[in-house]
Amino acid sequence: MNKIDSICRNFLWSGKDSYARAPNVNWKTCCTPKEEGGLGIKKLKEWNKTLLGNWSWKKIVQVKDSFKVAYVGNQWLNQTKPYNVAAGYQWLRPPATKVQWRFVCWNPLNIPTTSFIYWASKLEILLTTDRIARIGFGQETTCYLCEDGTETHHHLVYDCEFSKQCISIMHKCLSIRFPSQSFDQWCASGRGKSKLQRKVTSACMVGLTYEIWHESNIIRLQQQVCRPDILVSRTITTVKHRWSKNNNSILQQRDKAWMDNLG
Ligand SMILES: [Zn+2]
Repeated sequence: MNKIDSICRNFLWSGKDSYARAPNVNWKTCCTPKEEGGLGIKKLKEWNKTLLGNWSWKKIVQVKDSFKVAYVGNQWLNQTKPYNVAAGYQWLRPPATKVQWRFVCWNPLNIPTTSFIYWASKLEILLTTDRIARIGFGQETTCYLCEDGTETHHHLVYDCEFSKQCISIMHKCLSIRFPSQSFDQWCASGRGKSKLQRKVTSACMVGLTYEIWHESNIIRLQQQVCRPDILVSRTITTVKHRWSKNNNSILQQRDKAWMDNLG
């Protein structure tokens, strides 16, 4: 079981089944549900234990004593409530606070890579120049995008002039007004826009986070930063294309006008 976990962990961070580099996030966090800030990967040991729970009680007496409490506490033992694996797994792990940004990060309209980068930015594990220098691989910590300030997570997301320009242009395109810090809060409350508009807005902002991050990486090689308006336009085009590829339903007049004006 540990070996399988180890292969999964190595593959997540390096694309290989063998150890190539230290993971950016500990495995326990990766195995936390998405709504609590993790990646929702199943913990194999606990998942296996809950699968054993599908057997009759007599067959699982060898399972740890702790599981007996789950059976009694949930009325599974006296069969007033049917046992199911998902409920068993849920019982084995203590609940934690749900993160507000879960709706934005795991929006089905997001391209998976952009979701992953957004998740990594929320956990502050992106390899910014500041972080690379701190772990001993390089000395340059200046932000390549604005050449003014140390490239930390906070700088890249909130303080960088290049990022600010991109976000400002995106807000205009999306017809929204709020400070970027409260974006997750706005999406969770869903004020002022239809469900479709919220989904598209959310995907555009996640896509933009990815594009800014990608730009901060490739500029080190190409020495020329992309114009913010081009970056925003590219993000919106990608989101609209993904939406139209996966949705054939007829839009309401209000949504159609909004989508047509977008970009
Ligand atoms: Zn900057």
